[in-house]
Amino acid sequence: MNATHVYVHVPFCARRCTYCDFSIAVRRRVPADEYLRALGREIERAGRPAAPETLYLGGGTPSLLGGAGIAEIASLLGVGREVVEFTVEANPDDVTAEAARAWAAADVTRLSIGAQSFDDRVLAWMHRTHDSGAIGRAVGTARAAGIRNLSLDLIFALPESLGRDFARDLAAAIACEPDHISLYGLTIEPGTALARQVERGACSAAPEGRYEEDYLQAHGTLETAGYRFYEVSNAARPGKEAVHNRAYWRLAPYMGFGPSAHSFDGTSRWWNEAAYARWRELLEQGQSPVAGREILSAPQRRLEQLYLGLRTSEGIEVTEALAEQIGRWVASGWAAWLSAGEAGAVGRGRAPCVPSDRPSPTAPADPARGDVPSDRPSPTAPADPARGDVPSDRPSPTVPADPAPRRVRLTPQGWLRLDALVASI
Ligand code: SF4
Repeated sequence: MNATHVYVHVPFCARRCTYCDFSIAVRRRVPADEYLRALGREIERAGRPAAPETLYLGGGTPSLLGGAGIAEIASLLGVGREVVEFTVEANPDDVTAEAARAWAAADVTRLSIGAQSFDDRVLAWMHRTHDSGAIGRAVGTARAAGIRNLSLDLIFALPESLGRDFARDLAAAIACEPDHISLYGLTIEPGTALARQVERGACSAAPEGRYEEDYLQAHGTLETAGYRFYEVSNAARPGKEAVHNRAYWRLAPYMGFGPSAHSFDGTSRWWNEAAYARWRELLEQGQSPVAGREILSAPQRRLEQLYLGLRTSEGIEVTEALAEQIGRWVASGWAAWLSAGEAGAVGRGRAPCVPSDRPSPTAPADPARGDVPSDRPSPTAPADPARGDVPSDRPSPTVPADPAPRRVRLTPQGWLRLDALVASI
């Protein structure tokens, strides 16, 4: 198989964050040589993808591989200057001048920096390895090395007891002038340190309504600062949308390498063993690390297309079969028609600009990590779209008479109900 989008999973973290349930390998010292040897074998088995357009190193903490490790992955894949976007996820304290220079020399074009918060007490509670000062230093160091396309991750909907000032964190993130900001709503996953804290009463989940409040606040603040939500969880300055993630949302083929990585050829999806030790062992024994495979039926594919389309500001094309239901969403304020110009821009492969009065939330689905579809449920108790619970005093709008492509996108209030809306189709 060939794919123009490649994901590599680097599973190592120096320690586990309070809320994290990802498949990672906690290592004080990263076994880089061992990992790269196994990765090389996997790439050799699968066949090196020819001229990838994007390369995304996620984890885990890929930045723990330092300058040489990242350069070696690029070399194993034969990726060079022709790559359109080469992203590395980085913890702020790994962005040293030496590492950043080496990444730039290896043609890394973009860093996704796990900031999460600018409050040192909150960062300590999260069990992060960095403090707030490290975020600004990482941004400056990356830019000085020539890596100018930067994204910051922020977490919202934190427990009330932390006293986190989300407005202050948003302002601090904007002050760093990143091109892109990703938002993650905190969820309490079974088996995590956070879940244990909640069980023994040391901490409580954010109160009802906090998720929606923080999300809409982020949306308003970022829009005012010139960012546009082009996906439920991702905001970017115009022209700085993530090319790689967009490929997932358009259901484009991709190849994944490393433990737990998923691949997709347009029809079927397969995924690797999640545990680092097992993945490596299989490759060392000359065996395939693939743990499972599914072939998407036509209805499954249509549902994924709908789900992924509704995550984005490109929205979905409205068929006659969906028109009445979508009309109810529009009447409820959960969806909005795209103008003919916006719909045409989608057809030409450009995202429509999201009107600034429309607000957006959740961990971005990353299919290469197996995150599709896994959004968090609506934090509120919305009317049930499956029952058609729209306010009865509103007229039921019909599809516009405009013969141009009929597309609709969710509003921020719709994005907050994404799962329920998709389930109602
Ligand atoms: S850095 Fe990311 S992957 Fe690693 S433990 Fe923290 S949340 Fe999990």
